[in-house]
Amino acid sequence: MASIRELHQQLVNKERSAQELTRDTLERIEAVEPKVHSFLHLMSDEAQTAAQQVDDKIASGESIAPLEGIPIAVKDNLCMTGVPTTCGSRILENFVPPYESTVTRRIKETGGIVMGKTNLDEFAMGSSTENSAYTVTNNPWDLSRVPGGSSGGSAAAVAAEESVVALGSDTGGSIRQPASFCGVVGLKPTYGLVSRFGLVAFASSLDQIGPFGRTVEDTAILLSAIAGRDPADSTSLEADVPDYTQYLNPELPKDKKLKIGIITETFREGLSEEVKTTVQNAIKELENLGAEVVEISCPRFRYGLPAYYIIAPSEASSNLARYDGVRYGQRSEQADNLLSMYTKTRAEGFGEEVKRRIMVGTYTLSAGYYDAYYLKAQKVRTLIKQDFEKAFESVDLLVSPTAPMTAFQTGEKTDDPLSMYLSDLTTVPVNLAGLPAINVPCGFDSNGLPVGMQLIGNVLREDQLLHTAYAYEQATQWHQQKPEIA
Ligand code: GLN
Repeated sequence: MASIRELHQQLVNKERSAQELTRDTLERIEAVEPKVHSFLHLMSDEAQTAAQQVDDKIASGESIAPLEGIPIAVKDNLCMTGVPTTCGSRILENFVPPYESTVTRRIKETGGIVMGKTNLDEFAMGSSTENSAYTVTNNPWDLSRVPGGSSGGSAAAVAAEESVVALGSDTGGSIRQPASFCGVVGLKPTYGLVSRFGLVAFASSLDQIGPFGRTVEDTAILLSAIAGRDPADSTSLEADVPDYTQYLNPELPKDKKLKIGIITETFREGLSEEVKTTVQNAIKELENLGAEVVEISCPRFRYGLPAYYIIAPSEASSNLARYDGVRYGQRSEQADNLLSMYTKTRAEGFGEEVKRRIMVGTYTLSAGYYDAYYLKAQKVRTLIKQDFEKAFESVDLLVSPTAPMTAFQTGEKTDDPLSMYLSDLTTVPVNLAGLPAINVPCGFDSNGLPVGMQLIGNVLREDQLLHTAYAYEQATQWHQQKPEIA
């Protein structure tokens, strides 16, 4: 499947209609879905209707925007009016939202064609998409392995060419880590750049919606469409949103060298040798492109994981209190009074990992343990943020591996939550600090599995992040490799 720019040209030149593109995409989905299982819900009819509107527009001689007619997949924790939104959970099995998330509204307004809703770990809690109540998504590069998570369906859909681009959400790495496992680009924006209105909340101070693409340019186009102030989300920033594609220059700045800091701590513990050498080679490439590379220490980085796994469950336990069998989705039929209706609904509706987080979060927020856990974790969060602030006084960007390993086998870590949590080692500190970061494919391991490099930018420096990622991508061949889905 071509890039957004190429497809746009085909549409404009009338070599292909938007309806043909939609049909071809649906055919591709039909062909690979039995193996990959990226989608929970397909929107074939809606997509055809939307495509027809784009074709009518082209036929009447009107000009079309870059995203118009382009297939997009949407993670199933984003609400769309009249479209089932399950969040990968039984508790929302029959939930059909009466309202539209800001990001999907913006996509529709710019003429993007939503193909369907993609699989995820229940309520976005997980790193492998195995926590979905509905299906397990397989990694297009090796069907016996996980696509990463929690936005594994979106990452797999893009990698398997079931969609051109996709939306995911990232609370602790859920865009970047699956992008890394599936060999695609994934960007987690600065906290507040993209409206969270209509995103089912997991941990509200960490959640951000962001784009996936097979190339940096496609990712930049989608980000430009969804970013920007939204009065419906009080945490959304008042920032100007440029057209991010204007920064995509294959050359890095010549006048003032771009300074990139390698986060020392991320190359130490728990990192696979192959990931380490692959990312180190990618950093050499950045140096060849003219960047100045220095080592930089973020000593508190390693407390990111423990702090995250207190703060995220705390917020989740509060956010998920609303699923009580009254206001949303499922209700237990087994109850004979109000209290047992609440407890049975929640016992039946939530999966194991979600229950574990609710229990941890309720404990860490409880009167007796609040100071020892939640408050302490918040203080650690501030220290981590300060480490980043200090680093950005001397460098423009930071670099690390996106994940300490490549895609693991399905089932390999399901019985060991702690080892699952470890795959978020290098992504969670970024969410704690609210910074933007991108995964760029940077090579393959000896099993032929994609390796990803994480670039971390300063607040609202998505421009610099995308520019650097683009320059690297254009100087390498990784984005041209495709999985052969057996
Ligand atoms: N894997 C992390 C978790 O399980 C991050 C999830 C996310 O970013 N949504 O919490």
